[in-house]
Amino acid sequence: MSSHVTQIKSENSFLEIMKVMGHEQLVFCQDKKTGLKAIIAIHNTKLGPALGGTRMWDYSSEEEAVIDVLRLSRGMSFKAAITGLELGGGKAVIIGDAKTQKTPELMQRFGKFVDTLNGNYITAEDVGMNEKDMEYVRLATKHVTGIPEKLGGSGDPSPVTAYGVYMGMKACAMHKWGSDSLKGKKIVVQGVGHVGESLVAHLNDEGAEIFINDINLEQVTLICKKYNVNSIQSSEMFDFDMDIYSPCALGATLNPISIEKLKCSIICGAANNQLEDENRDSLLIANKAIIFAPDFLVNAGGLINVYSEIKKFSREEALSQTRKIYNTTLDILRKSQVENITSYAAALKIANQRLLSNNK
Ligand code: NAD
Repeated sequence: MSSHVTQIKSENSFLEIMKVMGHEQLVFCQDKKTGLKAIIAIHNTKLGPALGGTRMWDYSSEEEAVIDVLRLSRGMSFKAAITGLELGGGKAVIIGDAKTQKTPELMQRFGKFVDTLNGNYITAEDVGMNEKDMEYVRLATKHVTGIPEKLGGSGDPSPVTAYGVYMGMKACAMHKWGSDSLKGKKIVVQGVGHVGESLVAHLNDEGAEIFINDINLEQVTLICKKYNVNSIQSSEMFDFDMDIYSPCALGATLNPISIEKLKCSIICGAANNQLEDENRDSLLIANKAIIFAPDFLVNAGGLINVYSEIKKFSREEALSQTRKIYNTTLDILRKSQVENITSYAAALKIANQRLLSNNK
């Protein structure tokens, strides 16, 4: 969360927070019959319709869910802008436990709410969602992406997201070490779900020394069986001597406590909103001479993949567009060096330039 948002959170209304963060719309949806409680946030539609996934999470409070959806939707605007897509930024959250409270009826009802926005918001999957859920949403609205390939959709975006993170990581390695080889590099992947596992597969193929961490111990066992990896405990993760830390679980894992402990050269992962406080934490990271790959840049592969569903291009083309994350990451790291600003600030500058210009 950016520092100004942290400060106004407790004393200002959501409308005030929206004003500061630049949001257009915040929609609260609830349905007694299915138990649906959802919030849709539309940040910016200047470049196109607001596209962003739906997250289902058991938030501890409504306020936590609102702040999450506001931050995530804002990140989507920057992601679309920096990647050169004709899309705006939006996101939705469903409050509840995806394992026990998600039903086909609830997903379809959510789709009906999405439909009321007439295409101003287009949904897709995020944490707690899968392609099947998008099929239920599709029964109620056409404004949904990330549906299975057999139904004419682009399928699971996670492998494309992972490929983009892998490209970003290689670019960081090139910037830091003058070679983009990850062979023998000690890499900690936190969160080995859809994206994390795909990333592990790439790193494994390249011969990196991989360490994984996940709160889902069954998943840890599975990944340890499939790939040449070791697992590490959450308690030892930030003290671990590693070359690269790759956050691929949830956001805000980078804060003053974790950053102080971190002994890596590069941070590059898929999670959205990795910095607890954008300004403060990007500076703390830069002060330790750690290279930080801005999350909204390197995890844009999934967005490119769902965009291919709207623009009707192939997965090969989506992968080819995602490969460009390598060069964009290098450009941003150079810009950060030349202008003596953090990599996060450099990436935001480029995204904002496109959002503020009149060109799509
Ligand atoms: P996922 O739900 O499949 O996987 C997340 C994994 O993280 C799970 O295995 C979960 O058990 C683990 N996890 C949760 N909290 C943890 C913690 N505190 N410590 C360790 N592990 C923890 O989600 P995903 O689709 O792989 O997405 C991962 C991240 O990447 C999310 O932040 C998501 O918003 C972001 N992202 C995903 C995509 C995509 O295409 N799926 C695109 C862009 C960004």
